[in-house]
Amino acid sequence: MATPEPVWAVAGERTVTCTHCGQGWFWTRRIVMSSSTASLFGMDGFSPEAAVLSCTKCGKLELFEPTALQLFTSTS
Ligand SMILES: [Zn+2]
Repeated sequence: MATPEPVWAVAGERTVTCTHCGQGWFWTRRIVMSSSTASLFGMDGFSPEAAVLSCTKCGKLELFEPTALQLFTSTS
């Protein structure tokens, strides 16, 4: 199993930066939202799967469609 590594991400041809602290390194994971969670986020009718980026510095969470993200590590 690979060691978890921080990543930086590109979405819509723009590098993703944290909306809270402005830096660009994140932990990433994919989640499957339950229908109640999807309703909470106002995302009924969208894919239940989401890519979550968690800022390594401040912990702010950013949500993306998994297909919209390109992820890079410091070694890639
Ligand atoms: Zn941050």
